[in-house]
Formats: sequence, structure tokens, C-alpha cells
Amino acid sequence: MRIARREFLAAGVAAVLTPNLARADGGTRLSFRGSTEQGGLVIGKAAPGAKISVDGASLLVSPQGDFAFGFSYDRVDAAHVVAQFADGTSEARDVSPVVRQYETQSINGLPEKFVSPSPEELARIHREASLIVEARKRDTDGVGFDEPLDWPFPGIITGVYGSRRILDGTPMAPHLGVDIAAPEGTPIHAAADAAVSIADDYYLDGGFTLLDHGHGVSTCYLHQSKRFVKAGDKVARGDVIGLVGQTGRATGPHTHWGLCWFQVKLDPSRSTLTPEPPKA
Ligand SMILES: [Zn+2]
Repeated sequence: MRIARREFLAAGVAAVLTPNLARADGGTRLSFRGSTEQGGLVIGKAAPGAKISVDGASLLVSPQGDFAFGFSYDRVDAAHVVAQFADGTSEARDVSPVVRQYETQSINGLPEKFVSPSPEELARIHREASLIVEARKRDTDGVGFDEPLDWPFPGIITGVYGSRRILDGTPMAPHLGVDIAAPEGTPIHAAADAAVSIADDYYLDGGFTLLDHGHGVSTCYLHQSKRFVKAGDKVARGDVIGLVGQTGRATGPHTHWGLCWFQVKLDPSRSTLTPEPPKA
């Protein structure tokens, strides 16, 4: 199963890589899989012992030679990847993001307290946002990032990554996650092996869990009605971590599912084996 998953994703990458990169990939000491689209999480593999930098910053490399980086939703310039191998040789590659078109989505009828929060509520929002930023700085040696993600539960996608949102007529920041609707109380499963970074109740995000999959890669699960894990817990792919709810800024039962590489918000639907979750 492990090998089948890898081959599947590697094939997906080949289709979107530039011809140069696809050709150079055959059997070299540096290869890429995952998604090279805007919002994509790229998983690199280098010969064990290699040192890797992306855009001049050195990355944590697993003992097997795996590393990760991501393309922000609007990035257009190539990522410059340099591998320095244990034998003293090196190899450089430019990996270009494939540009995407994004939708516009209107949302109406949110309660006023979420549209115009009070100063006290704003202070809480900022405090909670900074806790999440701090947690996403972690660069741990977990290897859960190494395999494609599982959808956290069966459901219907009601919000896609990158859509430009108009909230009660006011343009908002783009939506940098995937909203999956399912009945309240639907079990939410960890998308990959992880350590729990945060499990708490936040003002906008409601019942919130952040899972650290290692090497800066994290997933988050918002608006949960119940949480079953706590910070510091280890979870395996498929473990139930909470239940679908509509806590925080939500207009119906759903989970906002996010994927990040450090602070860069990525599209989790590009790291799963299927573009949509199974139907309930
Ligand atoms: Zn969302």
C-alpha cells in the first residue's frame, strides 16, 4: 500500500511538472512528487545524507532523504532547490508553480459579532492567531508529511481553496483551505500520522486542532463540536480527533480543513489521492 500511494502521487506530479523537470527526474538523486500547482505541497526526495536548501533557506531532511516545501496561492516565481550530496557534488533545480484560476464566493448572513467584532473580541482573535503562528513555526522530525493525506471524513465540499470571498458585500482575504460539510457529530479522522500541536476553543475557529506532520507541514480542523485529543498527543493516520460542528464563525456544520507548510497556507485537496472526499 505504501508503494502504491507513492507511485500514484508521483504520476500526478509528472503531469504538471515542466517538461525539463519531468525529464530530469528519471532516476536521479533528486526528485519531486506531490503537487507543483499554486497552493501545492511538494515532497522532495534526495539521496540520503544530502543537504537541501529552497530559496536559500536550508530545510530539514529526513534520514531517508525526504523534505517538503509549498507554493503559496499566488506564487508565480520558481522555487530554487539546491541539493548538496554527501560525495561533495551538488545539483540545482528550479521548480515552477503551475498557475491556477480561483473562484469568487459570496457569503451572507453571518452574525454581526463575527462581521464587526468588539475590541475585546478583536484582542482575543489576535491572541489566538499568534498562538497558531507560533505553533506553525515548529520544524519537527515527524515523517507523517511523507505520504498523501486522507480526507478527514466523507462529505460535500462547500468552499474551495483560493476563492475570493465577499462577506455581506465586503471583499475578504482569499479562502485558503477547504470547507467540507457533513452532519453535526460526524467523526473527524487525522489525515496523516502527527503530533497534536494545538487543541483548543477559539473565537473564530471554534473547536480547533492543529496537527504537526513534521518538517513544517501541518493540518488544521476548525469548528469542531467536540475534540478528543490534546496538545502533545501522538495520533496515527485515521485516528478520530473530534466531531464535526459549527462552533466559531460558521454558518452550518462543516470543517474548514487547512494544510500549511510553516506559515504558507496550502490546498489540502491537492495532497489527497482523490480531489474530493468520499460521499457520506
Ligand atoms: Zn473555510
